[in-house]
Amino acid sequence: MEGGTTIDPQGGEAKRQDGRVPGRVPVLLPLPLAGPYDYAVPEGWDATPGTLVTAPLGGRTLAGVVWHGEADGGVAAAKLRPLSALLPAPPMTAPLMRFIDWVAHWTLSPPGAVLRMALSVPGALTPPPRRPGVMLGEGVDAASLPPSRARVAAVLAEAPVPWAASDLARAAGVGVGVIKAMRDAGLLIPALLPRDAERPDLSAGTPPLLSPAQAAAAASLRAAVVRGGSGATLLDGVTGSGKTEVYLEAVAEAVARGRQALVLLPEIALSAQVIARFRQRFGTDPFVWHSEVTGARRRDTWRAVAEGRAPIVVGARSALFLPFPDLGLIVVDEEHETAFKQEDGVAYHARDMALVRAHLTDIPAVLVSATPSLETLANVERGRHQRLHLPERHGSAGMPDVGVIDLRATPPARGHFIAPPLATAITETLARGEQALLFLNRRGFAPLTLCRACGHRFQCPNCTAWLVEHRYLRRLECHHCGHAEPVPPACPECGAEGSLTPVGPGVERIAAECRDRFEGVRIAEMSSDTIHGAAGAAHYATMIEKREVDLIIGTQLVAKGWHFPHLTLVGVVDADLGLAGGDLRAAERSFQVLHQVGGRAGRAEHAGRVLLQTWSPDHAVMRALVSGDVDRFVAEEMEERRAGGWPPFGRLAAIIVSSPDGAVADEAASALRATAPEGEGFRILGPAPAPLSILRGQHRRRLLLKASRGIDVQALLGDWLARTTVPRAARIDVDVDPVSFL
Ligand code: ADP
Ligand code: ZN
Repeated sequence: MEGGTTIDPQGGEAKRQDGRVPGRVPVLLPLPLAGPYDYAVPEGWDATPGTLVTAPLGGRTLAGVVWHGEADGGVAAAKLRPLSALLPAPPMTAPLMRFIDWVAHWTLSPPGAVLRMALSVPGALTPPPRRPGVMLGEGVDAASLPPSRARVAAVLAEAPVPWAASDLARAAGVGVGVIKAMRDAGLLIPALLPRDAERPDLSAGTPPLLSPAQAAAAASLRAAVVRGGSGATLLDGVTGSGKTEVYLEAVAEAVARGRQALVLLPEIALSAQVIARFRQRFGTDPFVWHSEVTGARRRDTWRAVAEGRAPIVVGARSALFLPFPDLGLIVVDEEHETAFKQEDGVAYHARDMALVRAHLTDIPAVLVSATPSLETLANVERGRHQRLHLPERHGSAGMPDVGVIDLRATPPARGHFIAPPLATAITETLARGEQALLFLNRRGFAPLTLCRACGHRFQCPNCTAWLVEHRYLRRLECHHCGHAEPVPPACPECGAEGSLTPVGPGVERIAAECRDRFEGVRIAEMSSDTIHGAAGAAHYATMIEKREVDLIIGTQLVAKGWHFPHLTLVGVVDADLGLAGGDLRAAERSFQVLHQVGGRAGRAEHAGRVLLQTWSPDHAVMRALVSGDVDRFVAEEMEERRAGGWPPFGRLAAIIVSSPDGAVADEAASALRATAPEGEGFRILGPAPAPLSILRGQHRRRLLLKASRGIDVQALLGDWLARTTVPRAARIDVDVDPVSFL
């Protein structure tokens, strides 16, 4: 925190030993303000750092946190507004406060904007109302009641505590109507239920018998948990090698010691199957946290975490900001996933910030991946992280056999996207009664629609992007802003009818082709358009496990987390897709995603096969996937990054200028260029129009700071932005360690 003055210039109040002025505290509010504001503490209130309070701001009253560090002292004591109330919630821990400051500093965000993520559930800041239940009325005699009512009375005589009506009905073996009738008759009286205060029992699950390599890795992680103290470990090994089983042992160790464990997953991997693994291992469901957890469930979960009743939390990146009082371990599964990067608002990378939170909490972190990011591998090389490696798949399952289909030699027929060798492989697989998966990371029917008569292309009115045809919904959609319009009967440009033509495939189009080509095939189309929430995913998983599906056609959504024993063939419709665009990590990311989706093949006793359709079979990514020589691919990528000074050997920060007015965006970008710092060890590239130069009606320009690792990027950026005056109608966003360059 900024150091305040030692004496209040107006009030002249004395400071205590800890640097805090009596009767005055800094309070951080969940708003994008420069820092905490001072408030007066009413006589007799205990407002130590971390206390959750409400405080007035303007005409409003807001929840906030009594912050650590010194009060600012700038406002005279007489003018200071008092705190409104102390909130009945557990105080924020010192490590979490330090973490919030740290994230704010790293991302150049106001600390209040980060606090907002930690206080994302205002309803949880007060204890939930106690739910109504019933108890036995005074003087009620079971013997005088008819049998079903007597059973209820007997249960209550044995356990004379408040019961929820549904629980009581179940315990007594009667319908809820009986309970209701007894209440109406005055035999049962209302009584409030106690609050949930129990930490669930996690001892009912079944630990697996680990292989020697798994057991060694698990022992090492358990030891790190027992030892405590910070330190990160990379746990890597091919898909199916038992990494999950191994890190669950570390989780078991943490919870056995009465501490809490946080497991971060990329949101799309929060499938029912993953949750089921936790249930199996611990006998009960973990607490789950992601954007779809809403309402009372969200409130209860936040509260359970804050009160230490949630031993295991499995969550998406935002779970990093939950108020664990006694965190003992953080696991980041699929650590290489770009979904861990938040792009909007506070632009943070959850994997990196997980390492920070673990460090500040002084606990171990485990990063898990079959295809670790170069960032993590570089940290292993530097000796910052330990590495545990699982060499082979568990049980009899071997690695799938990966081959390429050279589209130059065997192209698909016109208007088709499945080349003859892939079609043959699918036919053979289905004939054996096994399942196949076709992967194409593109939603909808076709990514572009054009008019054959005049060449008109359907573009989003708000974005520099084509509209994607969704044939089931009969509409054209922008995948960036959500704009949608019906597919018109004629070309809006030239009026020609029947002239609109789809260009290129999405999963819907692949499904249509397969329906035509493979008679009677039962297809499951899996994308965010067809799968809604965990229940939707579970529904598909069950269908596939029960073999009610022959062919799965899916986007990124099917690439990970799933385990389908009868799936033996994976076909990648367009293996080159991710290589287009040429962003820094295109090759790395393509390799990761294709390796991951290929890993879905042959996870049980049947051998798996992966076929990659590509126009460039000699590309390093294809060669690495076919040969399985991952180390060589990684070494080459590393060398290229090192030579170019790119991450993980150099640092990047993007500045994105946006405005509804293109000229204003240009003006702001030029202003930044004009004040750009100069010096050794860094360069500023741009401004240039962003690849998505118009997004949601905002004109966007980008500048990129490229620096060597020794440069204090935050200081440089902070100073630069402070020196620059940009038009008010322009908005400046900073993205430190950017993942997306759109
Ligand atoms: P990874 O996380 O490396 O992809 P998993 O932990 O998901 O691997 O293991 C792959 C499959 O093998 C899972 O179904 C898992 O339950 C099973 N498996 C792994 N190790 C064992 C073991 N020691 N005993 C029984 N089953 C195991
Ligand atoms: Zn759009």
